[in-house]
Amino acid sequence: MSADEAGLRARLVAIARRLAAAGMNTGTSGNMSARVPGGYLVTPSGVAYDTMQPGDIVGMADDSEDIGGARRPSSEWRLHRDIYRHRPEVGGVVHTHSPYATTLACLGRAIPAFHYEVALAGGTDVRCAPYATFGTQALSDAALRALEGRRACLLAQHGLVAVGASPEEASATADKVEALARLYWQVLQVGEPRVIDEAEMARVARKFAEYRSSPHGDVPGVSGKNVK
Ligand code: 13P
Ligand code: ZN
Repeated sequence: MSADEAGLRARLVAIARRLAAAGMNTGTSGNMSARVPGGYLVTPSGVAYDTMQPGDIVGMADDSEDIGGARRPSSEWRLHRDIYRHRPEVGGVVHTHSPYATTLACLGRAIPAFHYEVALAGGTDVRCAPYATFGTQALSDAALRALEGRRACLLAQHGLVAVGASPEEASATADKVEALARLYWQVLQVGEPRVIDEAEMARVARKFAEYRSSPHGDVPGVSGKNVK
């Protein structure tokens, strides 16, 4: 195992534990991965985060369904594989069942541009992919469509997926989308929010891209790519 791979395994475990401690995932729900040459590293299936060790992370080849190692990969390995196949800019994927994003997902509600920070997820909304059984190709296909031009999407009756240049960036975007989902849910208790129009959201996206490339600003989750 290379030093890079050992480091990535430790980083995935740290992210998994942090998300669990933050209440973004409970029990064994959720999973995360990082791209490596020729494939990806993914969290094991059904292993509680507080006991997970770097040696439990499963290495998967991009072109094979052959499962090496002592542990089974996450049941969502197709989702992780397909994102790396179709999104060359992505280096990390985080899936959570975080409470507010999942609340909206259970209503089948996308998050519209009710707040300008929705642009951090890559566009004018965070789409909600239609329901499909966990761990299936159908779920992966639906998620990939909902992620088109975006860094995050909701999964109906299930949870949230976020992507980034690194697993840390994907995890920061998952945090941000969860916070936006909470705000949107709160707003809906009082009324229907006004939605920011497309031209203004495009302006916000350009400003975020500048913010990111300035020496003073670094917006987590914003790589400047896929911003329309
Ligand atoms: P795994 O433990 O297999 O990763 O499954 C958790 C999950 O969230 C399935 O969607
Ligand atoms: Zn899940």
